[in-house]
Amino acid sequence: MTPDLMAKGTELAQAHAKLEAEKKQGQTESGGRSAGFSRMHKLGEVDTAHGRILYLEDVCVSFDGFKAINNLSLDIAPGELRCIIGPNGAGKTTMMDIITGKTRPDSGTVFFGSTIDLLRYKESEIAQMGIGRKFQKPTVFEQLTVFENLELALKTDKSVKSSMLFKLGSLQSDRLAEILHTIHLKPDAARLAGNLSHGQKQWLEIGMLLMQDPKLLLLDEPVAGMTDEETARTAELFLALKGKHSLMVVEHDMSFIKAISGDSGIVTVLCDGSVLAQGSLDQVQSDERVIEVYLGR
Ligand code: ADP
Ligand code: MG
Repeated sequence: MTPDLMAKGTELAQAHAKLEAEKKQGQTESGGRSAGFSRMHKLGEVDTAHGRILYLEDVCVSFDGFKAINNLSLDIAPGELRCIIGPNGAGKTTMMDIITGKTRPDSGTVFFGSTIDLLRYKESEIAQMGIGRKFQKPTVFEQLTVFENLELALKTDKSVKSSMLFKLGSLQSDRLAEILHTIHLKPDAARLAGNLSHGQKQWLEIGMLLMQDPKLLLLDEPVAGMTDEETARTAELFLALKGKHSLMVVEHDMSFIKAISGDSGIVTVLCDGSVLAQGSLDQVQSDERVIEVYLGR
């Protein structure tokens, strides 16, 4: 779970009110089509007709004069699993901060699909539109069971009263069961999250993101601290998500990158805040500049 999920309840109401107001004026990205109550966590539809779920062009951001992101341009296709590698300080996390609205760039363009200008929205609104983010450290509710954590991820209003009144619909129950299976935690559904291994907590947090059915998932160093076996199972999990969701995965573990990128996946190498190289893993691994700044000889 991301920390901002906690604040989602109150913010959701505001975002929904804003959407309603926009709808009245026929100004939503979906051209004023009704989003419907059951889908109110999604602000409008994502238009991927142009073959892009995410599009960044010439993005720059400086911190005290230091250009952390420097003319960064990159795009991702719907259903793609994009790997991002690069040295520490390359700007990988900052790029995710920009996409999710945590950091505002000084200049540039950031679009979700071809019509949603992400720079116009707040962090909470971007999450509700279907961009889920997994930070490096797992943040699950340790005192609740695996099942309860997943259930909670569905609840959009976290007040005690509404949580008590909340009941899973049958569709949601099916979805929860499916996600338990996907994240390899079906046998552990009744265990307290605090008793899970580090890797299992990471999977649970990914499951909590999946409960919200994100279109795009940003995962920052997801296998850091995992055992080899957990890493291998995480690779399987990501390959299962590919196609149904678009994924952007930042990792240093090259065997994991190899497993999830396969023969045809695109690997983007970031350095000094922009794209140094891009192509198949074989291509970028044999690129002299990439060897120089990142992989070493
Ligand atoms: P990466 O994730 O690739 O290791 P980061 O995106 O975390 O790199 O950082 C890129 C650069 O920007 C680093 O030099 C980092 O120190 C700097 N940076 C990131 N966030 C901030 C911030 N909020 N304030 C000042 N400098 C920052
Ligand atoms: Mg980082």
